Amino acid sequence: MKYLVLIPDGMADVSIQELGNLTPMQKANKPCMDALAKESLVGIVSNVPEGMVPESDTANMAILSFDPKVYSRGRSPLEAVSMGIDMQPDETAFRCNLVTLSEDQELYEDKIMIDHSADEITTEEADELIKALQEHFGNQERKFYTGVSYRHCLIWKNRPDSYPFMRPHDILGQCIRDHLPVSEGGEDYYAFMKESYEVLNHHPVNQSRRARGLRPANSAWLWSPGKKPALPSFHEKWGIDGAVISAVDLIKGIGLCAGMRSIDVPGATGNVHTNYDGKAKAAIEAFESGVEFVYVHVEGPDECGHRGEIDNKVLSIELIDQKILKPVYEYLVNCGDDFKILVLPDHPTPIEIRTHSSDPVPFMLYDSKKEHSGVVGFDEQSARNTGIVVEHGHNLLDSVINKYDHQDPIQKNAAKKASSFASNFFDYLEIFVLSITMVLILFTFCARICRVDGESMKNTFYDGQPLIISNLFYTPDNGDVVVFHQTEKYQKPLVKRIIATGGQKVVLNFEKKTVVITDAAGNAVDYSDKFATFYNRDKTDFGEQYEWRDNLYSDNNPIDAVYDEETGEYTFTVPEGMLFVMGDNRNFSADSRSIGFIDERTVLGKAIISFKPFTIITD
Ligand SMILES: [Zn+2]
Repeated sequence: MKYLVLIPDGMADVSIQELGNLTPMQKANKPCMDALAKESLVGIVSNVPEGMVPESDTANMAILSFDPKVYSRGRSPLEAVSMGIDMQPDETAFRCNLVTLSEDQELYEDKIMIDHSADEITTEEADELIKALQEHFGNQERKFYTGVSYRHCLIWKNRPDSYPFMRPHDILGQCIRDHLPVSEGGEDYYAFMKESYEVLNHHPVNQSRRARGLRPANSAWLWSPGKKPALPSFHEKWGIDGAVISAVDLIKGIGLCAGMRSIDVPGATGNVHTNYDGKAKAAIEAFESGVEFVYVHVEGPDECGHRGEIDNKVLSIELIDQKILKPVYEYLVNCGDDFKILVLPDHPTPIEIRTHSSDPVPFMLYDSKKEHSGVVGFDEQSARNTGIVVEHGHNLLDSVINKYDHQDPIQKNAAKKASSFASNFFDYLEIFVLSITMVLILFTFCARICRVDGESMKNTFYDGQPLIISNLFYTPDNGDVVVFHQTEKYQKPLVKRIIATGGQKVVLNFEKKTVVITDAAGNAVDYSDKFATFYNRDKTDFGEQYEWRDNLYSDNNPIDAVYDEETGEYTFTVPEGMLFVMGDNRNFSADSRSIGFIDERTVLGKAIISFKPFTIITD
């Protein structure tokens, strides 16, 4: 299977009068996208979690399946990683701008922020100035790295990962006195910025710039500190190799932090005139080299959104369709492998506001193996009309790269095709294999068969799926799927996953949807994302009662937990002989969160095999 994820950054918009009240997506002539959308799964997805700023790093992190609320550490460390800096855990990255301050005032504090980009200084000139800073300030603790133009990086050891710096572009034309890092912990930053003026103002590079009528880059300005985000490896998470193709440092940084390849495309500029052909070529080459997941990010539509260029925004969408999607699709059709194509913007960049918004964005998922009843014309409205909503962008890849493809609930809901002779044949074959295996197992182990009831294991098992369970020599263990029958609480046997066993400590956070256990030996294991499918097609489908929220203290729940108001964490220890279980579909599961601990003696067995499809359960 090959996966193409195409991100036309900022493509989503709202209707624009100049376009006859159409959106740029509706106006653009994009035959390939629209043709695929007819057979795609189409819906909307929120990539920016509530309360977070709709920045590209946040939204792209979500699309790559990493919850920004857990992993986002700001932009500078991502930029640093994309510059090839191997950041260590004790190091903090700072964005170090080369800026222009006014020269008339005697005191540093009285100067005015003239230009946050020092007239977009060339990288060559900037490099000399950054070297001068390194010579003067660099030591075991501090190291300066040249980036591009005015955007550079300072790595500073043993510094906190946050500080309320002022962004230089937010104080243009203002006196810097009130915006210097004077609050607690900022003394060293203040001293450095002030002294940087002494080092830079009369530097030969700046003398030469003045002589040419250009603004000097006469001060460094720090902002946006952050530690390297501890992103899980994409390969480990999904079992496939991934590559990122983008002109933007942030996006490259996310890919590199997740252990993906970052492929540079010459001439990729990040604006409407970027090298589209080059990006398509790079994607095809990546697939050919064996990479299964290729993430192509195109900045063009976003840049046009910021500039308020309506026609260029439409044009950039057309060029993406014609010069990237079409050739890569044609390659995939002929490559002899199955493939999926996911197209979505990270966030909207509406022309009207000329900046990002947090609104949900349309997505389309094309699967060469399955035909969906999609939409006519892929745009904001047609995607909303399908009623398919993915509430958390970081769960979207669950429906794209699905280890349990056949159980994908979205596809289950799609129109069922008339069965052909071939599928009947395979049905019979499956029944035959099932019968033989069942008999074999019954004679081999002490086993019994039961069926999954309900949606609480959705994406792992589906409602009604047959399971074979065994209790021969069975001792409950973390991660096992078990069937138990706790009659006084529930009429029917339930299928759940063991998260913690007797004696283990559990820390639950309903707000962040995290669950971490500590075993008897003191090892902490993070079960927040492990096994969890969090599947959310439409909140209203599931009702509210089993939402991840504070229901630890419901009537029939005897869990006695300590609640920390500050962190929102519930901490408790599982009593000996008891289990703490959860459904994999954690948004909709009646489990230990609502019905309390499960007595080990009510466990009927561990699920070892599932049918339709036949799977030996190894986790
Ligand atoms: Zn933008």
